[in-house]
Amino acid sequence: MACILRHIESGQRILVTIARVTSGGDRLEVYRHKRDFEHTPEPAGRVQPSAPEGDPRFVVQRHRARRLHYDVRLEVDGVLVSWSVPRGPTLDPAVRRLAVHVEDHPLEYLDFEGVIPRGEYGAGDVIVWDTGTYRLTKGDDAGEEMAKGELHVEFAGQKLRGRVALIRTGRRTGEGQQWLMVHAADDQAEADWDAEDHPRSVLTGRTNEQVLHPPTPPPPAPDPHLRWHAPSAAQMEALDTLGNDGVWHVDGVDLSLTNLDKELFPGAEGRPALTKRDLIRHYASVAPLMLPYLTGRPVNLQRFPDGVDVEGFWQKEVPSNAPEWWTRWHDDGARPGRTEWYSVLDRPAALVFTANLAAIELHPWTSTSEQPDRPSWALIDIDPGSATTFDDVVVLARLFRTALDHLQIQGRPKVTGQRGLQIWVPVGQRYTYAETRRWVESLSRMVGSLVPELVSWNWRTGERDGLARLDFTQNAPHKTLVAPWSVRPAPGAPVSVPIEWHELDDPDLVGDRWCIPDIAQRVSRCGDPLAQLIGLPQELPAL
Ligand code: MN
Repeated sequence: MACILRHIESGQRILVTIARVTSGGDRLEVYRHKRDFEHTPEPAGRVQPSAPEGDPRFVVQRHRARRLHYDVRLEVDGVLVSWSVPRGPTLDPAVRRLAVHVEDHPLEYLDFEGVIPRGEYGAGDVIVWDTGTYRLTKGDDAGEEMAKGELHVEFAGQKLRGRVALIRTGRRTGEGQQWLMVHAADDQAEADWDAEDHPRSVLTGRTNEQVLHPPTPPPPAPDPHLRWHAPSAAQMEALDTLGNDGVWHVDGVDLSLTNLDKELFPGAEGRPALTKRDLIRHYASVAPLMLPYLTGRPVNLQRFPDGVDVEGFWQKEVPSNAPEWWTRWHDDGARPGRTEWYSVLDRPAALVFTANLAAIELHPWTSTSEQPDRPSWALIDIDPGSATTFDDVVVLARLFRTALDHLQIQGRPKVTGQRGLQIWVPVGQRYTYAETRRWVESLSRMVGSLVPELVSWNWRTGERDGLARLDFTQNAPHKTLVAPWSVRPAPGAPVSVPIEWHELDDPDLVGDRWCIPDIAQRVSRCGDPLAQLIGLPQELPAL
């Protein structure tokens, strides 16, 4: 009795309780009534006992129905309470977004992505625009807070993060109620942040358009475990005996090569000058080692048609004269004016073709074309300043090694072919760039704090006092580091070479130790120490 009285003191609480009891397992009745599950791919679902532990989940779906809108759904009492937000949630605290309360959806809807056919309720295409967990920042029962007309939560999604208030404004009750959605001015807030600038599914990397019209599948991607072959000795000889221009038959195709005797690299310190023929020979020879880092990934090329003494240029778009068999990838998330069609280098002939374009540096994305928002490498970049010696670089690399050992995370160093060192850490393709960047930043700041005399956190080159930078910002969409086995545009043609950790102790190690003419011997002695880590789906431990 006392218990009942206490509830009566709080009229709202008892109303909520009654509503829950009378609706029982039928909170999805409205949802089901609107849909014909013979025709829609949406789940029929059922009310489920709330998850026993962990924060409740949320999903935001981008839904191109009669009108584009975003559906914000929060797990409450075994269903997804839902609002339709025409312009989508925002991180901008200066903006209020209308949110119309709609019928509860089943929890099975959390990962629903697909096409609702014409004639069905909500016909159109749906992607999981964001998902994650949330917690209440006010009250301890979401159903009660909603009944009061104010829900204060903190989202931990990939896009939607930070504190958000949902506030009922209209008088109507139930479905069609008008609410406002407002982001707090907290440390996740971001002025002018617009949902439409982030158009891909966090589950599949697809846009709504790709869900509606799945792109025609590209020619079957080569098996990543396929053994690519370098050209045979006879084929190499054929390359060597071609004139300045000629047709080389390699990798099953005829490639027209031009200006083969053009000097691209001047000599340096006892190293010979090298021609485009040498560049082509290098890329053809390392193709079996290098293609596993390139295949399935968009690539940026840096071309130096007039040699490395003349400034080169970046080529991101597929070359206009690319042959029929070229693998292309369309970036559906590209902003207007940006590169839309990228090259994907997936066979030796493609490497020969780009070398013939005098593409000296190859920079593959750290994510794949299938999951462009999910990197498979976390990159640690030790970027020396003007006063940084290579010994300093090695000191920093050893500290990273110790830290990674301690965390039981595998990675390998590679010399850049210039003055620096990078450490490549393979990760399972489930993290966002924001997550790998934060992880590398934490690790870098830990390492940097041990040797503050070597590291600057000032990002402007002129204000770094010549100190090294631990550049975690390369872990971002569209940002890339030079590929293993790529040549660098410098006299002598130095190459970026993966090394074993113990080679850091070699007194002869320097960043540009190996040039094109040294690579065959280096490979026959040491192979590629990074190769065994390709595709290793490591989890990043909390730091
Ligand atoms: Mn909808």
